[in-house]
Amino acid sequence: MTQEKELICVNCPMGCRVHVVLEGKEVISVTGNTCPRGKEYAIQECIQPMRILTSTVRITGASARVIPVITEQAIPLEKMSEAMQEIRAMEVHAPVRIGTVLTENLAGTGVRLITSRTMS
Ligand code: SF4
Repeated sequence: MTQEKELICVNCPMGCRVHVVLEGKEVISVTGNTCPRGKEYAIQECIQPMRILTSTVRITGASARVIPVITEQAIPLEKMSEAMQEIRAMEVHAPVRIGTVLTENLAGTGVRLITSRTMS
């Protein structure tokens, strides 16, 4: 079954409106992109959307109750729920430096979760 999608490329401020035609899960055509990055983005977004995950993890021994965390790379959107379950179960103890690795393999994605702030 043929399906059409309109996406806004988020790779640069131009925000090109990209039109994608899919046959099942296969991308048939991509138009509207000004550069190749827009085509790559559109194909990825249709086949397996990826997102950087930002959240917080409980911390003890600091003035705040949580510390901000971020994935080092984008992870599949379909893994977000599993990743959040893992993050909710985590707890760290102060002091913690920015860039501390909390897991090497968040939700089986092979992507590291790191702290994005130092807390003493
Ligand atoms: S297609 Fe290229 S020029 Fe257009 S928004 Fe994406 S990166 Fe920018």
